[in-house]
Amino acid sequence: MRDTPAPIKLRGQYIGGRWIPAARSFADINPSTGALWAEAPDGTRADAAAAIEAAHAAFPDWAAMKFTERAHMMHKISDVWERRAPDFIAAVQAEGGGWYGKGAFEAHYVTEVFRSAAAICYQPLGEVLPSEYGKFSSAVRSPMGVISVISPWNFPGVLTARGFAFALAAGNTIVLKPSEDTPFIGGLWFAEVLEEAGVPPGVFNVVTCSREGVAAMGDEMIEHPFVKGISFTGSTPVGRAIAAKAGAHLKKACVELGGKDSLIILDDADMDRATQAANFGSFMHQGQICMSVEKVLVQEAIYQPFLEQFAARAARLKVGDTADRNNVIGPLINDRQVARVKAQLDDAIAKGAQVVTGGGINGRFVEPTILTGVTPDMLVYRDETFGPVVPVIPFRTDDEAIALNNDTEYGLSAGIITQDEARALAMARKLETGMCHVNCSSVNDEPHVPFGGSKASGLGRHGGRWSIETFTETRWITLDR
Ligand code: NAD
Repeated sequence: MRDTPAPIKLRGQYIGGRWIPAARSFADINPSTGALWAEAPDGTRADAAAAIEAAHAAFPDWAAMKFTERAHMMHKISDVWERRAPDFIAAVQAEGGGWYGKGAFEAHYVTEVFRSAAAICYQPLGEVLPSEYGKFSSAVRSPMGVISVISPWNFPGVLTARGFAFALAAGNTIVLKPSEDTPFIGGLWFAEVLEEAGVPPGVFNVVTCSREGVAAMGDEMIEHPFVKGISFTGSTPVGRAIAAKAGAHLKKACVELGGKDSLIILDDADMDRATQAANFGSFMHQGQICMSVEKVLVQEAIYQPFLEQFAARAARLKVGDTADRNNVIGPLINDRQVARVKAQLDDAIAKGAQVVTGGGINGRFVEPTILTGVTPDMLVYRDETFGPVVPVIPFRTDDEAIALNNDTEYGLSAGIITQDEARALAMARKLETGMCHVNCSSVNDEPHVPFGGSKASGLGRHGGRWSIETFTETRWITLDR
């Protein structure tokens, strides 16, 4: 038996450039082993208020800083992050239950997010407008002030970085609350990196709390009068509640939410490409990705050979503790996730679905599972699964595939596999999703693109110049000569 390492004692919350120990701590669990990995600070609503006040005090100087200096700071953060990447990757394996390759991807991606954020410092921040009265008339984009950032546990590096880096580069100051499942890799790790990079005190703050304290801390992060905007990434029910509260306080909220994405495989698809995309999209990080493939739609003529080859690939994936780099399928993050996936699986089987491969659940480990015979009355057809369980559903015509894709309240991403580019682009325009990728799975991300969903998958866009729109306020300024 392996020795269980002693839990790490995290230094405290990061407020106003200081590490403030909390009176209480909460358990931060390694989901592979179930052992206590760290003791995390269990902050309070008052801590969130202190962080917001520190961010408010730091705002004027940060907003007034030369844009070139802010850009250099973004590069510095990226450099420190890159140098410290091995420690981050190890923590992704231990705290986040991620496969080594997933941690390495996150580490690389985050460095690119900060470099991309540096680039937006050089983008135009306004326009000169014609004036009926001969005035100098302009639309000027200004930073908003304090932005509250709330991030999830599934890709805590990528999603936290994307949630705040562009807002920071645009001259705002930040209060971040990571998920209670990943307080380190989604939060306090960033504080260590930004502190080392020399980001001035108060510009970036991190508060953490247990699940019990989240609602109160979240309320403070929306309601406090110094907070001017909210950047939320997480589930649709919580995002809906946050957007409603933000609306009541007339604050801008960018919310990136859940998905029920399809991968559509047309009858002329390259089979190897199709099965690879289905395998990666459905099972990467145990299906715990907002843009995971949650339904594979396959044209009838190739349904059977596709199913056999996809099942063969899935059955080869190694499941186990992510401390071992050979295990590409790790645990689900917590027992609630396991219960949710199990409920969907039990419901589907009870209503007549067949398990083609997988179906086993051992503690937090769920085998990559492929289902057939899935019908619209099953939970797995309609609800976000967020686990390694995927239905394969046949269709006859392109219009039927479009209708199946759109038959959901969600609209995040989609993938289409075909050799016919014109057919794919015609189809892509009819899919009710914020993103669509031809000859690739629905799982795709780059820092400079307009990332975001339609319908119940979100409001607003993160990334590149679209983040400037999200995290600045446009003001009309005139000068009469
Ligand atoms: P979640 O909604 O449970 O939690 C997200 C964050 O919100 C966490 O930090 C949590 O502590 C916080 N939170 C929970 N209740 C709150 C409240 N009442 N007030 C304020 N904050 C609160 O989601 P999760 O389980 O962490 O993440 C998985 C979900 O996130 C999935 O639905 C997934 O699809 C979605 N997601 C979306 C994207 C995207 O970019 N669209 C990316 C990743 C994950």
